[in-house]
Amino acid sequence: MNDRKIPPEDKVKEAILQVLKSRLKVESQEELASLVLRLLKKEEKSYTLSPTRVKRIALLIPEIEVKAKTKKTIKMQKIDKCPICESEIEELKAKNLLNKEIVIGYRCKKCAYQSDLEAFMPMKYIFLLRNV
Ligand SMILES: [Zn+2]
Repeated sequence: MNDRKIPPEDKVKEAILQVLKSRLKVESQEELASLVLRLLKKEEKSYTLSPTRVKRIALLIPEIEVKAKTKKTIKMQKIDKCPICESEIEELKAKNLLNKEIVIGYRCKKCAYQSDLEAFMPMKYIFLLRNV
């Protein structure tokens, strides 16, 4: 039996903020995931968290800035509609090191469809606390 648990999104958000408030900067999604998971495990030992999920949730937090570090310039194929259900699609964006906004994936507003640029290209993410 699999007794691993998925932490709810708002718990992960809270933990991400807590981590970044103490560190100000985390240099990779793997590191962020392990720091966040360490916090969450204090509450529930069987929680599990993937680096990709941590990054996606971090992108939704206004106080956090996500920067994408890439070796090449990214040209992601532009899509206008969800390939599964044809609903409106949302771009997931991050800034690169030159502060230019780049699309790092897509998410459907209706169904669970998500696409991630990492499937095509290795990327490194940096997470920063914004000065607010
Ligand atoms: Zn869809």
